[in-house]
Amino acid sequence: MKVILADYSGFCFGVEKAIDIVFDEMNKNNGYHIYSLGPLIHNTQVVSQLEEKGLKVIDDIGSAEDGRVIIRSHGVSEAIYIEAKDKSLEIIDTTCPYVKRIQGIVNTYYKEGFSIVIVGNPKHPEVIGINGWCNNSAYIIETLEEAKGLPTFDKLCVVSQTTMSIPLFKTISEELISKGKEVKVHNTICSATKQRQEAARRLAKEVEAIIVVGGTHSSNTQKLVKICKEELPNSTFSVETVHDLDLELLKKYGIVGITAGASTPKWAIDEIIKTLEEL
Ligand code: SF4
Repeated sequence: MKVILADYSGFCFGVEKAIDIVFDEMNKNNGYHIYSLGPLIHNTQVVSQLEEKGLKVIDDIGSAEDGRVIIRSHGVSEAIYIEAKDKSLEIIDTTCPYVKRIQGIVNTYYKEGFSIVIVGNPKHPEVIGINGWCNNSAYIIETLEEAKGLPTFDKLCVVSQTTMSIPLFKTISEELISKGKEVKVHNTICSATKQRQEAARRLAKEVEAIIVVGGTHSSNTQKLVKICKEELPNSTFSVETVHDLDLELLKKYGIVGITAGASTPKWAIDEIIKTLEEL
């Protein structure tokens, strides 16, 4: 079987930076309690490795008694920074610069009296965190229908979740332009997401089947699955590890593509390539 890896796949720079910072911190073993506010990345193997080194994953900053708290690349609301300070917790901030930028835009426009629309998944931690920079006042929408249903505004600022689909954000923001007297649209989809989505689509057009490697809870991975299914509706396979591959089914393909979400380690991709090449 011929296997082709997409031009951009696996760890993005934001995730890589977060992982380096946290492994460094854990290896120092300074005797502090170190907490991660939510799993560092959507990859159970990496999270387990960090837990073995003593990292405690918590859902709520209220559970951290003392020590250091890691803010993951998704970022958090302003209130979490305030609560950490009140509790004298030291913050290790691995918020991705792309997410920090969105938080800054939202905060600035909110203070200038703009209403805020976030185009993204309301349940995703990145979006929940961004909303926390405008006093949780944002309208959070994911579809064109939801955009059409919004009221009109005097001043409106629109941002996107970093992993949003590019064509969908374009369609929704075109609709939102008619919703206010003054509308500022910021396409804040990150370049790593853009590169991965475009490379996955290009590759899906060239191969007989495509495998998308990444967590089922990973937003950017699921976007890649959706894009690949648009090109290969019956031959797109979503897996987390090599053990999820249906080798009997895959045997029938001569040329298979691989793409991977931004929190998929290189070794997980390499294992899959090796297994397929031996088919
Ligand atoms: S996907 Fe983009 S925004 Fe998210 S961590 Fe990676 S580079 Fe940052």
